[in-house]
Amino acid sequence: MNDSRRNFIKKSMIGLAGLSVSSLKNLSFESFDQVQQERKVIQRTLGRTGLKASIVGMGVANNSDLLPLAYDSGINFIFTSGEYRNGIPEREIGRFLRNKPRESFIIADGVGGDKYINPITLKFTRNFKKEMITEFLDRGLQRLGLDYIDIYCLGNLASRDTALHEPFLEVLKELKDKGKIRFIGGSTHRNEHIVLKAAADSNIYDAIITSYNFRLANRNRIKDAIAYASAKGLGIIAMKTQAGVYWDSKRKNKINMKAALKWVLQDNNVHTCIPSFSNMNEFEEDLSVMKDLTLTPAELRDLKINDSKMEDGLFCQQCGDCLAQCNNCFNIPAVMRSYMYAYGYGNIVKAKETLQSIDFTADPCTDCEYCAVNCSMGFDIKKKVFDIININEIPD
Ligand code: SF4
Ligand code: SF4
Repeated sequence: MNDSRRNFIKKSMIGLAGLSVSSLKNLSFESFDQVQQERKVIQRTLGRTGLKASIVGMGVANNSDLLPLAYDSGINFIFTSGEYRNGIPEREIGRFLRNKPRESFIIADGVGGDKYINPITLKFTRNFKKEMITEFLDRGLQRLGLDYIDIYCLGNLASRDTALHEPFLEVLKELKDKGKIRFIGGSTHRNEHIVLKAAADSNIYDAIITSYNFRLANRNRIKDAIAYASAKGLGIIAMKTQAGVYWDSKRKNKINMKAALKWVLQDNNVHTCIPSFSNMNEFEEDLSVMKDLTLTPAELRDLKINDSKMEDGLFCQQCGDCLAQCNNCFNIPAVMRSYMYAYGYGNIVKAKETLQSIDFTADPCTDCEYCAVNCSMGFDIKKKVFDIININEIPD
């Protein structure tokens, strides 16, 4: 680590004004808020939840070694899932947060996923039973060592049907009444605008985690839906903010990560976001955004928003247009997400988990002489499937 980086981290750390971690113990919510103001962390209120989150949060999957630095720098919003690495991140978070004042962090967690949603009908399958939500939550609470989770999310919502599935909403309401969760959330990276509007009109959801970035073809529709949902009181959390990290699948041309994050957070209706920074460089970039949101003209140019000749890159729009075209009708959007996790984020574990969640163990493309799919991003699906399938063989 060079000197300037060391200095940057030192300045960013809670060492500022003598705010050591130990001095944070037993803080009331108001005093913690004051600490954040002294740190000059930009915070926003997550809709009707009233929770004040740092505008940059942290998605924790295989990066928990950065948790102490993130926490000490004022990042107070943490998202994880028991589905990641069989709950190991939950355990790691639990160990780290033990003895920290409960008011000093907001935990969002979730259940569900591609495994339980038919990619064509976009309805839950019978395999996903409501008891599973309660069991999943209980295991998560135990691993985290907490009495309650702040926002508990039904994951991978992709349609109005999945967002408003009555039996699951009933379970979440019961868990809220019992005090095991404070607020009901959902997450979506397909048909985001539909899910956001359904959740906003439901009067049941309190927050939504949505895919949102400058590369999404439907970003204007999502922006409008975010504004609608925010006006109705939902807390809005953005994910996939850096759109696959690289412009190209050879990882030679990196997206301007700071500019991408600022683009998302310039929208005041987005209250926080969960980039999954996995190394010190990425952490530094994201942290700097938390204190200064100015998007310079040069940064905006870097995003090439109106450039129709953008490289196909790694970011799958999750539009689902490929599904009806494929001879074998498999869950291409989920496989392309796995590809992005592996080749963009360098997160092999998450890539494997995504394939496992849809039981994707054999290459369905080997029997096709040529690929019938015309992907809206220009992806060579057959090649990408060939490249990603062997990831199953890599040991954890
Ligand atoms: S692979 Fe292409 S067509 Fe299929 S969901 Fe992704 S961007 Fe859309
Ligand atoms: S090559 Fe693969 S993606 Fe293309 S049509 Fe065949 S099975 Fe579907």
